[in-house]
Amino acid sequence: MSENLRTVADATCTFCGCVCDDMVLTVDMDEKRITKAKNACVLGRAWFAKHAIGDHPAALIDGKEVSVEDAIEEAAQILAKARFPIIYGLSDVICEAQRQAVAIADLVRGNIDTTTSVCHGPSGIAFQDVGESTATLGEVKNRADLVIYWGGNPAESHPRHFTRYAVTPKGMFIPRGKKDRTVVLVDVRKTPSTPVADIFLQVKPGKDFELAWALRALVRGVELDSSIEDETGVSLAVLQDLATRMKTCRYGVLFFGMGLTMTRGRHFNSGAVLALTTDLNEFTHFVTKPVRGHGNVTGADNVLSWQTGFPFGVNFSMGYPRFGPGEFTTVDVLAKGDADAALIIASDPGSNFPRGAIEHLRSIPVICLDTKPTATSKLAKVAFATSTYGINTAGTVYRMDDVPITLRAAFESPYPDDLQILTSIRKRVAELVGEKRVPALKQAS
Ligand code: SF4
Repeated sequence: MSENLRTVADATCTFCGCVCDDMVLTVDMDEKRITKAKNACVLGRAWFAKHAIGDHPAALIDGKEVSVEDAIEEAAQILAKARFPIIYGLSDVICEAQRQAVAIADLVRGNIDTTTSVCHGPSGIAFQDVGESTATLGEVKNRADLVIYWGGNPAESHPRHFTRYAVTPKGMFIPRGKKDRTVVLVDVRKTPSTPVADIFLQVKPGKDFELAWALRALVRGVELDSSIEDETGVSLAVLQDLATRMKTCRYGVLFFGMGLTMTRGRHFNSGAVLALTTDLNEFTHFVTKPVRGHGNVTGADNVLSWQTGFPFGVNFSMGYPRFGPGEFTTVDVLAKGDADAALIIASDPGSNFPRGAIEHLRSIPVICLDTKPTATSKLAKVAFATSTYGINTAGTVYRMDDVPITLRAAFESPYPDDLQILTSIRKRVAELVGEKRVPALKQAS
């Protein structure tokens, strides 16, 4: 380690949706890497450690190193000529860059979708159907005396969710922290999160909807018989106890994860817990929040919603935005073989999409932006290496509770950032499509 160290206080970890903004980073300015991340959890420390400056080229076309300008020209030409271009990813870049991506989709009359479509997309649909009783994590910390986690394992996926926001911290009206809270966990199996819970409900796989509906019935005073245990795996007595606790708490919160949204029932499951929350507000104050994965996936939902009215799976081919989960979501577009060009931003569908979708991705020109080489960048025609948001790039991200957080950069990167590249592509595409396309939305500057 060199002597040339810099300390950056109040930095932000963007690895997961907790977006912890109390990091104290030690940066080795000679080696251009973070050597210490005080307050980070094990996942955050690994995130900061792995984003040292690499030695890969800033831009490649067909695997050969080129200038960033040439790569921008090639990318713009591909997008402007395509008949059904798709844009996908966006959950690990700043909101300012996400806005440019929406503008590109509008200009090329393409399709824009985010990783929400493969995680909490069903919740996005349910929010539109049922509505959302919401709160910030600060409010939860200061007020919640009943905390329910349903279909998630935060101890491993969001390690500081318990300690920073919802279980152990002392709050204004929760002076003794965990001692003043009841914590309930609902899941199909025990996980490393289970020991934190005072009450654990083991629901039968695929029966989350039935469980939520049974709780709705009990909260509303409907009598159930003991056969509910055969249906859900949870006894009537346990359900009655939980329904009573939910109705009589001062402030309840229900956090739900992909165990609810990506299993049988999907948006019906999300809708059921949102409806349960609505019922509970007849008796007390109750809120429900999805636990979000990527650092700015919530920002992607927000930016797409401001700009188009829809959170993901948006298509501009008619000259105005249309929402089409199952039709305009990227896995479906690729699996049907519809797309003829793809702009993939900070995501790696080449490694985690179904085989048919990856095969189609291989057959079309792909433009990829990522901080490091990935399976997608390797199959891409044009690949940009970008700097890392929250480490090298300032900007805005949204925490999982829709609170915007301003990032500060810890050290400079020789690589351009997503905003620079997407702005340049957007401007060049605008020149190429010219008068032929009138954007539906007010264009990003
Ligand atoms: S909980 Fe998430 S945001 Fe917070 S330090 Fe850990 S990985 Fe980073």
